[in-house]
Amino acid sequence: MSQRHRRSDTIPADTSQACTATLAGGPASSDQADGPGHACARPALGNAKKSVSTLDDWKRLRADLRRSDRYRMRRDIAALLPDSATAKCGLGRRPNGKGGVSNIEIRTNDGRSFYSGVLACGSPWICPVCGPKIFYRRSLEINQVDDVVREQGGTTVFATLTVSHSDQDPADLLVPFMSKAFGKILAGRAWYGHSGKERTRRTTKGLPVSDGLRGDLGYVGMSRAMECTHGCNGWHPHIHAALVFDKPLDDDQVDTLREFVADRWADYVEKTLKREVNEHAVDVRKWDKDEKTIGWYVTKIGQGWNLGTELTGHDKKHTKGGNENPAQISARYSRSVRAGHPDRQAADLLVEFYKATKGRPAIYISPGLRKWAGLAEEQTDEELANEDINGQVVTELSATVWTAVRSLNAEADLLRSSEQNGLNGIVDTLHDFGLRVTTTSRDHPEDEVAVPLVIFRPLLPTNHRRDKT
Ligand SMILES: [Zn+2]
Repeated sequence: MSQRHRRSDTIPADTSQACTATLAGGPASSDQADGPGHACARPALGNAKKSVSTLDDWKRLRADLRRSDRYRMRRDIAALLPDSATAKCGLGRRPNGKGGVSNIEIRTNDGRSFYSGVLACGSPWICPVCGPKIFYRRSLEINQVDDVVREQGGTTVFATLTVSHSDQDPADLLVPFMSKAFGKILAGRAWYGHSGKERTRRTTKGLPVSDGLRGDLGYVGMSRAMECTHGCNGWHPHIHAALVFDKPLDDDQVDTLREFVADRWADYVEKTLKREVNEHAVDVRKWDKDEKTIGWYVTKIGQGWNLGTELTGHDKKHTKGGNENPAQISARYSRSVRAGHPDRQAADLLVEFYKATKGRPAIYISPGLRKWAGLAEEQTDEELANEDINGQVVTELSATVWTAVRSLNAEADLLRSSEQNGLNGIVDTLHDFGLRVTTTSRDHPEDEVAVPLVIFRPLLPTNHRRDKT
């Protein structure tokens, strides 16, 4: 093993509880997240108070707070970054793929309500609403890969890379640099061996042909994600990767891989950033946990969205050394906005992070691994964020009602009402917000059944023809 690097003895913590986010947040609870400085003064809702007497109640309360917080943070991000896609996230209706737009519906699945048909920005980096959904879906894919690895008797090796940094390093230096890390490491003759024309030439002449370390170890592909926190020493980026091999690897083979990765990483850092790597820069170890947690571990890093970031700041415990992940910075910024004193430092960090990450996928699963594991065709982050999960339609909202809900910042309240009291709860809540709405019904094109439709109550009496038929 290289003298420049030493394997860290720190085993990644079991983060099975890290993925507490849901596709659409959690069910019922109260409205306690409203701080005194909340920008939108709203009427107190009758159903907002709920006693907490059991652990399940507490979990529901936390989940609901997270959902409310995510909508609020999205509004603050939108105001801070008006030119970003997130500024338009949730504003309109999603294209339905048939030249039109989708209906906006509230659906319920397994006790949780969510919106369907709303256009999502699909940013895993800065959107508190899309981010959790994207990370959750990617983590499911990575767990699915892990199932196949176990079935096939293969090996997953978990690798973490980082680099020394200072508060003088801008995010747009470190993020692109780290994004290229594994592309630079798993490359070259030593990795690929002889290939193409050279392989043909050597074979023809009877010369030895190398399969490279890749071939020797049976490398299939990788999934990886970037963690980027910020602290006293500036941005602190990590790359985490799950490298998959189609056969069992013994300790010597893993040691060989570790040395290869460490040497290549040191060369790349020294050549590109003119810096030396320390003993903590590389960690490579076999993933041998029984629990199917690797997907959660790879993706929980993300930007912290799926750690259940709360504006209350309780999520501080999830980062080391006082560093904040972007979700925590976003939460800090939102708290300051509601207090009436926007935190400029937090705002500047969010803008810097947005510019550095814009257009980059947060989670990468290599095409070779996707094919080997039989995963579905790759969807972009935007596609994942816009994909509906199955659920029963509670009601459709007219476009104008949805616009009003958005302008009143009532998205989370409506979902909570849906979970507690269904359609009646939704209508009551809209009335509490001062909206004159009523319900009618509309044929649902897919299910061939009539579904409730919430519309603004007409100012003039109707002729009731619909009721007579
Ligand atoms: Zn979004």
